[in-house]
Parts: sequence; C-alpha cells; structure tokens
Amino acid sequence: MAARLITGGTVYTADAQESVHARGAVLIVDDTIAAVGPAADVERVAAGLAPEVRAGLRTTDASRMMVLPGFVNAHWHEMFAMGFTMRGALRPVSDRGDEVAFMGGGGDMHQISATFDRFDELIEAMTPDEAQAIAEYSMWTQLRGGVTTLGDMGSLNRPHSMVSAARRLGMRFSASTWASDAVCAPDRSRFRRTRDADAVLAGFESLLRVAAVDDTGRIRCRPNVSYVTNMTDELARGMAELVARHDLPFATHVGALRNEPEVMRTYYGETGLRRLSELGLVDDGLMAGHAAHLDEHEQKLMLAAHAHISHSPGKYGPSGENALTGTGVVPALRRAGLDVSLSTDAAALPGAGIAETMRAAWQMYNELAADQTDVLPTDALAMATRIAAKGLHWDDCVGSLEPGMQADLLLVPADDWRYLLNPRPLESFLWLGGSADVHTVLVGGRVLVENGRGVEVDETALRDRYLTALAGFTQRVLRVPAEAVGHVLGQVSR
Ligand SMILES: [Zn+2]
Repeated sequence: MAARLITGGTVYTADAQESVHARGAVLIVDDTIAAVGPAADVERVAAGLAPEVRAGLRTTDASRMMVLPGFVNAHWHEMFAMGFTMRGALRPVSDRGDEVAFMGGGGDMHQISATFDRFDELIEAMTPDEAQAIAEYSMWTQLRGGVTTLGDMGSLNRPHSMVSAARRLGMRFSASTWASDAVCAPDRSRFRRTRDADAVLAGFESLLRVAAVDDTGRIRCRPNVSYVTNMTDELARGMAELVARHDLPFATHVGALRNEPEVMRTYYGETGLRRLSELGLVDDGLMAGHAAHLDEHEQKLMLAAHAHISHSPGKYGPSGENALTGTGVVPALRRAGLDVSLSTDAAALPGAGIAETMRAAWQMYNELAADQTDVLPTDALAMATRIAAKGLHWDDCVGSLEPGMQADLLLVPADDWRYLLNPRPLESFLWLGGSADVHTVLVGGRVLVENGRGVEVDETALRDRYLTALAGFTQRVLRVPAEAVGHVLGQVSR
C-alpha cells in the first residue's frame, strides 16, 4: 500500500460545511483519502499507520500551497478537431473585422441546428488514430488546468477514442455520444428528421458496454441530446427509457439562447424545457446546460424536479451568449435552492478553464446581486467540485476532500506577491490566478501532473501528435487547402 501525506497547506475541503484548514493536511492511503484536517491531527493519524505502510510514506510539504479538490467539469465538449475552422487558426491576427454571428445576437438558430446535425458525418470521417491524438491533447489541457473528472456533453470526436484517451491520461471521464436526429431548416416551419432515433440510442448502448468492462473505475457514461432543437419525440422518449433502465443522469442544452423559445415553438410547438418535461426528461437526473432563457413556468418545473443547471459564465461573453446577466435566471434559481454547478463548456481552441470560470461566477453573480456574499469564493469552489460531482452522479467518491473519498486533489502555489498578507488564498487565486497556476494534480492518489508538467505523458509529444492529426483531418475532411494548413503550422514554435 502506498501512502502520501500532504501537509502544511491551506486545505479547502469543499465538504458540506465548506471547511478550510489554514495549516491543514491530507493523508492518502492507496487511492483514498484516509484523513483530512488540521496538520497536527492528520500527522497523528499518519503516525498510527501500520509499520509497513508508514515505512513507505511519502511526505509532501505544501506549506506554501493551497490544496483543493480536483475540479469536476461536468459540461464539456471535445472540439479540437475544429481548431482551424471554427473561430480557429485561420482567422486573421487582427480582431477588428469580427462580426456578431452564430451564438451571438440571441443565436442564429438555423445555423446552430444545422451545424450540430452535421457532427455525425464529421465524426465518422475521422480516423480512430486522429480521434485519439486529438482527444488526448484536448483532454490534457483540461487535466493540466486541474480538471480530474471530465463530463462529455457531446463531442466532435469518437467516444471510444475519448475513453482510450482518458485511460491513457489517467483522468476520470463520463463518456457520451453525439445525439442529434432532427434539424430546424430555415425554409420550413416544422423540424425535419435526419436520423433514426433507435440508431442514435444504440450508439450510446454500445458505449455503455465499453464502460461496463472498464477496470480502472475512472470511466462512466451519461447520455445527452446535443440540443433541444435537434431532438425528435422518439429520441427523447428513448433517452428517458434508457436513463430509467440504467439509472443514469441525463444532459442536454436547453434555455441556452434568447432566440431558442421562439424557434422551438415554431418547429416543435413547445419551448425546450416544457418539451423535455412532457417527454419525461425533467427530474433530479437532468443536468441542463445554460438554462437561462426559461420563462416562469419552466423555472418552476426545474425547481419542482430538483433538476441541475451547469452554468459556464467564463465562456458567454467571448461566444456572444448572454446566459448570465441576459436573464439573471440562473443566479435566481440558485438562490431559490437549485443546484447550480460551474463548467467550461467548450470551443475549438482553449478557452476559460475552471479557475477562470470560478472567477467569472464570483465576480458576476455578486455584481448582478449587488451582494458580495451571493457567491463566496468557497461557494465558487463547491460549484466546480462537490456540486458538479453531484450533478454528474459521481459524488459517491469525488468532489470533496473527505475521508473515504478518492484522492483527487490539486496543489496550487500561494506564496508570491498575489497572495501577500491575504489570509484567504482562494480569494487571491480568484482575483489573480488561473488554470496555468495549477502545480500538481493527483487522481486516485496517482500524481499525473507535477510542477505543471505531465508525469506519465509528455505534453510536447501530445501536442505534436495533435497537430499532425489536426492537419490531416482539416485537409481531408474539412477541405482546407494544404498551403493554408502548412502556413499555420509553420507559425507553431517547435
Ligand atoms: Zn455545451
């Protein structure tokens, strides 16, 4: 049995009391937290370990660090295959010509629906080798920023390749499949079916079988529908049945954009959350992505069902969305007692990580409420750890630093000018820190990142394999000319 004592740091447990220990410690035995609390208490527990365990005890001095639970990012998409074309590398260096598009201005719903409905053919055109190389680098950027548990809410990648990537990287992964079986085309007044719902459901069932034979304990599954605009009744009913049969949580994007309710009424006769409710998908297993553009009745449905909202305030401004201050609905539902967790969502290039998302929630929820206690720094942390784990149905073993939980934790240095005199290092971190400050990442007691570098993987090698795979996919499938791809890659410093 391996044991590790991390001692002397400011330990943020994210337990139900949001306990913080100024000079705290965490004792890990094998993959599990054996003790957490004031350093003196935990060191006493360590001294009482069986002699053969104590002989191999490794001690980490965390006296200049914060110790945080590993971040749980329960709403994310693998999108790095679009690194050239989707607001990516082919853009000019100057941003002066940028225009409102896609998610901006309330959302170009027809374009969004059509784009989402095209993901399947792009995924099928991706080779398994490309898929894995892209997934490994994309998921590495999450792990590097402190995400130890990652929840897929539908990706432009092959699910089996993402499972392989998670296993290789050593992180926890809730896998999913892309699910769209309808589109809202601009020349119509009714949705158009594009796929057989049973085939979409069978794809997820095949993923369940992969997860069932996983021997690491780090792979789970959660079905999702890409967006309420792209879902027939058959797909929704099938999802509800599948969720009930396997006792799974369910995720979808709903109430994401200002223009969504009108388009939903036109094409489906009902707004997104009402439809989900009628089709049996609004209950305490629902994780609703964004869920800001909900009317009063829909807000009541969410509260009555004890559903969950995953909110991504670090992302909205840069993508043109207004799912925070545009309605104020999510902070209000949170104040009314609904579980609201924080997530990054995703884009084709690295965007706000969990650290930046916690900052956004801390600053903007409080600004919206004119109340600096609406989201305390420890609330923001809980929203990115314990509460997110609950929404992902992984709170049986991750999300907080407590005895018996898996030893998923982060060390963040807290001893430079940014932290001077502040007795609350998490507050300084939210002010001035970020994803790149994460120093050490442990998953199940295993050190995966140390001093910002991969212990078991080489970031440069992951990146180079990603760029090669991306170049191939971009030319062959997205039909970007080789010269344009070559020009971009020539700018990458090697
Ligand atoms: Zn999303």
